[in-house]
Amino acid sequence: MNEKPTISNLAAIDAAHHIHPFSDMKELNAKGTRIIERAEGRHIWDSTGKKYLDGFAGLWCVNVGYGRKSIADAAYRQMQELPYYNSFFGTTTPPAILLAQKIASHAGPHMNRVFFTNSGSEATDTWFRMARVYWKALGMPEKTLVIARRNGYHGSTVAGASLGGMKLMHEQGNLPIDGIHHIGQPYWYAEGGDLSPEEFGLQAARELEAKIDELGEDKVAAFVAEPIQGAGGVIIPPDTYWPEISRICKARNILLVSDEVICGFGRLGSWFGYQHYGFEPDLAPIAKGLSSGYLPIGGVLVSDRVADVMVNEVGDFFHGYTYSGHPVAAAAALENLRIIEDEGLVERIRDDIGPYFAKGWKSLEAHPVVGQADCVGLIGGLQLAADKATRRRYAKPDDIGSLVRNHCLENGLIMRATADRMLASPAFTITRGEVDEMVGTLSKALDHLAETVT
Ligand code: PLP
Repeated sequence: MNEKPTISNLAAIDAAHHIHPFSDMKELNAKGTRIIERAEGRHIWDSTGKKYLDGFAGLWCVNVGYGRKSIADAAYRQMQELPYYNSFFGTTTPPAILLAQKIASHAGPHMNRVFFTNSGSEATDTWFRMARVYWKALGMPEKTLVIARRNGYHGSTVAGASLGGMKLMHEQGNLPIDGIHHIGQPYWYAEGGDLSPEEFGLQAARELEAKIDELGEDKVAAFVAEPIQGAGGVIIPPDTYWPEISRICKARNILLVSDEVICGFGRLGSWFGYQHYGFEPDLAPIAKGLSSGYLPIGGVLVSDRVADVMVNEVGDFFHGYTYSGHPVAAAAALENLRIIEDEGLVERIRDDIGPYFAKGWKSLEAHPVVGQADCVGLIGGLQLAADKATRRRYAKPDDIGSLVRNHCLENGLIMRATADRMLASPAFTITRGEVDEMVGTLSKALDHLAETVT
């Protein structure tokens, strides 16, 4: 009989055999990893029995909370009936069909088709190829370049890491690949200088126009951005930003790609981030909230503009994943979307818990070490500042956020830090009491920062 490994055994096995994503392995192996064993609602428990409030919904994904038996049941039923079949060569399965229909029902009248992937990164590679195929089919094969943003995140595949604007990722492996160009981000607090947020939003958007001029309109296929830049630090753009970006893409005949991997499926209090900001993208990668992370599944929403060409002109798109539209993942996703609909979770974020969260989150702006606390729906970014009045940042921004995050962790709250910004992205089912707890624990961690670093 196999004995259950002890915690220290598991940590030793981990150190010997497992390379973690985005983790300093040398440090991790010396310290030992944190092993999460179970979860329920908005809480997780590690292998020492310590309980945490998950202020981050896993990795911005467990939107309906942990422990949803009906999702497990849906997956179990589907696994017994048909554990796998593919969508290649003129075939597919009922869950994949019904999921595509369900997603389209929330995506707006111009967005009616979905291409399935297993992750957000694969979704990025998919639209990247599709954009080039689209222009080629229209007789413009030279329209291949893609413009993205510094500090954006679009995944870890070669195209994903190239399109993302993360310096550390580019340095590993000679990225970005050819054909990808970056412009600035709408990060007013750090980069807005003396401009008002509105003026800066316009200026940041117009960098796109300047870049198109530099590269040549007839060479540019698409522009991609997250409605709210997530991993880059929950950078919430000024209100002037998206209308101007949308205007430029239309005027210059460039495909607009909205990366909905974080914002999609309700986080901003609308089904998709582009609906919150009032623009209509041509392509939109999705993942995470599609299944609330219960099983891996992603995809690309394809607008009628692009789909008509892909279906009628291209016909066969030589692209696909063995598990595109996996029936078990699709069944889990369908049940996840049923929960979001039936429990009115998007409306709850818009009208009830979102405004409550905003009140608590924004109250942190009164703290002496907080320069700005901003949020939309249930996503929040909090800027730590050495001097509020002048928007002066700490000398070593990279150390500051992790100090606050570690204090939160010690006190039972999972938060994420990007340099000197604190990020929150709780489950849609978070209660008012849990919001108060989050704000209270974070506030104490901010006191700790104020006492430790001057
Ligand atoms: N796009 C955005 C905006 C993301 O935040 C992420 C992941 O965090 C991705 C794409 C990549 O998704 P995945 O990790 O599922 O490949």
